[in-house]
Amino acid sequence: MTHVRVAIVGAGFAGLGAAHELLRSGESSFVVLERAASVGGTWRDNTYPGVACDVPSHLYSFSFLPNPAWTNVFARGEEIHGYLRGAANGLESHLRLNTAMTALRWDDEWAVWRVSTSRGDLTADAVILAAGRLTEPRIPEVAGIETFTGDMMHTARWRHDVDLTGKRVAVVGTGASAVQVVPEVAAAAASVTVFQRSAPWIVPRPDREYTESELAEFASDPTAIERLRTAQFWEGEAMFAARAGDPAAIAAARQEALEHLHSQVTDARLRAALTPNYEIGCKRRLISSDYYPAFESGAVHLEASALERIDHGVLVAASGERYDADVVIFATGFESSEQPYAALVEGVGGVTLAEHWADGMTAFASTTVHGFPNLFIVNGPNAGLGHNSAVYMIETQLQYVVGALEHLDGVLEVSADAEREYTAELDRRAASTVWLSGCDSWYLDSRSGRLTLLWPGSAQEFRERNGVFDAAPYREVREMEPRVQREVRASVDWPLSVGW
Ligand code: NAP
Repeated sequence: MTHVRVAIVGAGFAGLGAAHELLRSGESSFVVLERAASVGGTWRDNTYPGVACDVPSHLYSFSFLPNPAWTNVFARGEEIHGYLRGAANGLESHLRLNTAMTALRWDDEWAVWRVSTSRGDLTADAVILAAGRLTEPRIPEVAGIETFTGDMMHTARWRHDVDLTGKRVAVVGTGASAVQVVPEVAAAAASVTVFQRSAPWIVPRPDREYTESELAEFASDPTAIERLRTAQFWEGEAMFAARAGDPAAIAAARQEALEHLHSQVTDARLRAALTPNYEIGCKRRLISSDYYPAFESGAVHLEASALERIDHGVLVAASGERYDADVVIFATGFESSEQPYAALVEGVGGVTLAEHWADGMTAFASTTVHGFPNLFIVNGPNAGLGHNSAVYMIETQLQYVVGALEHLDGVLEVSADAEREYTAELDRRAASTVWLSGCDSWYLDSRSGRLTLLWPGSAQEFRERNGVFDAAPYREVREMEPRVQREVRASVDWPLSVGW
């Protein structure tokens, strides 16, 4: 059976980043397992019209792979996907596309992970789970959905075969995906109705194309990109105070969003319906300069209640209003707090990650879990941000993982106490943040109400706290039984492509 030092699951930002970090650390015995036919994760899967990132493009890039050619302050999805395809250059011999991880089982006797995939099995000393956090589309339970005879799609599974021209389109949801797709759909459809269960907080999107001279400077002077990244990073960090619960910062953030709403929507009743009833930042604060105008112009109709049911093909809102539609677009988000991969991972004693996380995801250093030795989870528990770049967080976690792997010589398992204390500390910190101020969001675990998806601090604090591996909270078993050690080592040199 093929044996590698490290198996990476997923080839999005986190998995590709992990592969590069391993190579940079001198490690070449690894594979990257990717269930899809190409790399790119989120940016491969989200192809809805208008898809873009709301973190500035230069900051939303690997630090080791600057891209002087970003066309805009905020990159479009297609451009980011292209960047990630470029980031896969040099990784070809490690990438296994169309290869889904179907099970991960810890083998205590051999001190390896037994990795089952859709194309064969392998063993690995360590596994980096980089399977994403927003991958599985969530379609709400809508009674009568089977009676709808038109086309339906989720924003993350866009149906390019469905022509929206001249159609009556319903969009369900008002999150980051919805505010991007609605103006685009309005430009083609005959009518658009948005089912809004909660109004989002929105601030202007200061996007623009980079000028020729800026692009020339980025191309000729790498320090120019670094200076811009640094400025953008600290602009992001400045927004943390409002998330941390600072009243003055929250008031200023609320004021900015309300001024944006008032400047773009003159109709008082429409404005009232578009005004959120929870604190700004509690759900993700959105950036858009063309969402409100789509309503103000009359191109889009606002149904200020949820899609409740579908009655013989007719969409019925919680308000009782009924709508005929040819197409329904679900912009209803993702399974986040209960990650689908968790049921596939069996640790010590056959306990699954899903079982370990029955009350919500937990990890030490947001990366390792007691009972799951030699396993590192990127983008997992408390590793997300609501105010700065996810790529910075990923790189921080990868620094930690590489440090651990350099240390790894057998079994590395974090103690239950360390995981528990870290979790309790994060719960304490989260209590005063805006994320726990009373709204419902994908950041929270619905079973426990805990903040499980976000790190309750600044990005810089995350790096200071979790950027360097420290072995103290880990159980290490360096001595393996000689027979086991010999056979595992003997198989390390098998070619990675065996049987694939
Ligand atoms: P989301 O933020 O989870 O939003 C889902 C939306 O669906 C919410 O507005 C929710 O309402 C609504 N909803 C669910 N069931 C409904 C029903 N029956 N009727 C009416 N509305 C219903 O999902 P998302 O917009 O895909 O965004 C997820 C995350 O992906 C973002 O927070 C962001 O991190 C990332 N993202 C980023 C960008 C970007 O960078 N610009 C773009 C897209 C996505 P409630 O609020 O009431 O629950």
